[in-house]
Amino acid sequence: MVKRVGVLNLQGAVTEHLEALKRSEVQAISVKTEKDFDQLDGLIIPGGESTAIGRLIREQGLEKRLRQFYQEGKAIFGTCAGLILCSTDNSHETTDLRLGFIEMEVERNGFGRQVASFETLLDFKGIEQPVEAVFIRAPYIQSVGPDVNVLAKIDDKIVAAEQGNVLVTAHHPELTESDTVLAYFLKKC
Ligand code: GLN
Repeated sequence: MVKRVGVLNLQGAVTEHLEALKRSEVQAISVKTEKDFDQLDGLIIPGGESTAIGRLIREQGLEKRLRQFYQEGKAIFGTCAGLILCSTDNSHETTDLRLGFIEMEVERNGFGRQVASFETLLDFKGIEQPVEAVFIRAPYIQSVGPDVNVLAKIDDKIVAAEQGNVLVTAHHPELTESDTVLAYFLKKC
């Protein structure tokens, strides 16, 4: 059966994820309402502005459904701002939404606001070829809990990790030609 994978469509790089899903021959679903979560095999929380996405999740009344989706053990992939939303805590801005889907603390804009964007090749655990990675005002993961599997690092900064069915990357795989990270996520769906 064809997998149905949603992209949380509130703010951010939504179209690029939907296109990448279509290339991977899964059913790509734009998720805006509670009902859109029904029958999804996985969900992508895109990059963008984590404060804005978090506020919209609350305003649209989607937080409960999102948490339920996680409790059901469904696959979730957070990229960049999506990674921040999946984290447990951010000591700087505790009023912002943090879903706690992965036990990790993050440093927002961790590579510096001035050095806004860069590209690099990452060694990514579980993916044979080096992964083309685009970072845009990206966070990094400062510390992880004991059940978190670290997948990629730049120096001592963790930039990709997973815990159970939740995958996060600080970079934007949907902005590259390569769909290897997406394929890695789709195995969880
Ligand atoms: N800097 C953004 C934030 O803190 C994330 C940037 C991105 O998603 N590309 O939310």
